[in-house]
Amino acid sequence: MRLRFAPSPTGLLHVGNARTALFNWLLARGQQGAFVLRIEDTDTERSTRASEDGIRADLQWLGLNWDEGPDVGGPYPPYRQSERLDVYARYAQTLLDTGHAYWCFCSAEQLEQERASALAAAAPPKYSGRCRDLARAEAEARRNAGEAAALRFVIPADRDVTFTDLVRGPVTFHTSVIGDPVIVRSDGGPAYNFAVVVDDALMAITHVIRGEDHISNTPRQVLIYEALGLTPPAFAHLSLVMGPDHAPLSKRHGATSVSEFRARGYLPEALVNYLALLGWSPGDGEELMAIGEMARRFGVARVSHSSAVFDVDKLAWMNRQYMKACDPERLVEMAMPFFQRAGSNPGPWTLDPGPRAAVSAVLPLAVGAVDRLEEIPERVKFVLEWNRDEAARLVAAEADGQKVIAAFGDAIAEFGPLTKESFRAAATRAREATGIKGKALFHPIRVALTGMESGPELDLAIPAIDQVAGLLGGVPSCAVRIQNLRA
Ligand code: GLU
Repeated sequence: MRLRFAPSPTGLLHVGNARTALFNWLLARGQQGAFVLRIEDTDTERSTRASEDGIRADLQWLGLNWDEGPDVGGPYPPYRQSERLDVYARYAQTLLDTGHAYWCFCSAEQLEQERASALAAAAPPKYSGRCRDLARAEAEARRNAGEAAALRFVIPADRDVTFTDLVRGPVTFHTSVIGDPVIVRSDGGPAYNFAVVVDDALMAITHVIRGEDHISNTPRQVLIYEALGLTPPAFAHLSLVMGPDHAPLSKRHGATSVSEFRARGYLPEALVNYLALLGWSPGDGEELMAIGEMARRFGVARVSHSSAVFDVDKLAWMNRQYMKACDPERLVEMAMPFFQRAGSNPGPWTLDPGPRAAVSAVLPLAVGAVDRLEEIPERVKFVLEWNRDEAARLVAAEADGQKVIAAFGDAIAEFGPLTKESFRAAATRAREATGIKGKALFHPIRVALTGMESGPELDLAIPAIDQVAGLLGGVPSCAVRIQNLRA
């Protein structure tokens, strides 16, 4: 089995395309097939190398590695369409020589007029075929005289074209609805429907999984395979990824590109898991699965043909699960940039080597409580930034605030940096000294040390404050905070 992902490098990698890449990858990996990356950059105006680099980086981040591609090579090079122009020229010549293609001299204005009048008559806008019957010699003479011409493929008249879609079953188009497509533009560049056939055939692709926006291109491609005497691959068209309003997922729904989800602090394994379930299910209701397990279980038979709605809440839930399950060291690694971005510049988190250990100390306060890495710095901000006025105001608002703080302050004076155990011991002493217990005891301690009415468990928060105070200069310890409040 040989599968491919064939992005056009004209922007960021959309999550819908990432899902296409993923399904191809899952099938290839699960069946010990090959996964090929081919860059479809024949639209020279819109394609950029920066976009290609971005797409490759996103695929790598998602863990979708390829066996063949422009960077790693392989048995069917080159893997960038802009480097294959001589190949397309050869096949175009074959189509021309066998009468399957002809030169079209229609100007853009003429074609636009045709389109407009077809639309006005409520007819499908389809090329009229005006240049189809030009004599070959005349066409060549006009070309030699320098007239611009595109090469069009001859769609055979009055025929059904049927292909079996692995997701939808047999799909049939009648050729009467298909105009002769341009296969080589007047600037010499190959058109998508032509280049994709030549490449999939020469690269020995066996299965093509792609978005259903390509389903109406498929009969054109099937006819080009036929004209070239080549065997088409098996096709599977995925229904599009929709927003909550059932319109195709776009900017106005929020984040749409893999890089945006990455920047918001989703873990790659969460995004991959979520995308896999957007149209596929393992059949037993299981949801949290590692990518390798999904590859073992993946099959096109369980891909749904109904449209999939992108549910950000579900993705957030999954991300929270993956953050909880994540190896702590790796989580620190992934969380660091979010602290660096959140911190004042240059903030305490950007100093070395304390910050890593500090991030590691505060992560347990956030994991399980937030959905995304991006939310962690805000959640643990109280560890780093203690606002005396705010803490004093909140303590003053508590019935026994001053009393509790005085007793707690006396109790911790004897301890060094607080641990969970010494904090408990100090709280017990404060209770014995004041007779105040429960919420009336712990709430004043919380507001005094954190300057917040609520937050992570004190058992976790207090040791974290003292640990970070020991690691980063300028962060007040619990003892310093209390002293400050009593002064
Ligand atoms: N370059 C095309 C796209 O990004 C590929 C479509 C296909 O898979 O055939 O839509």
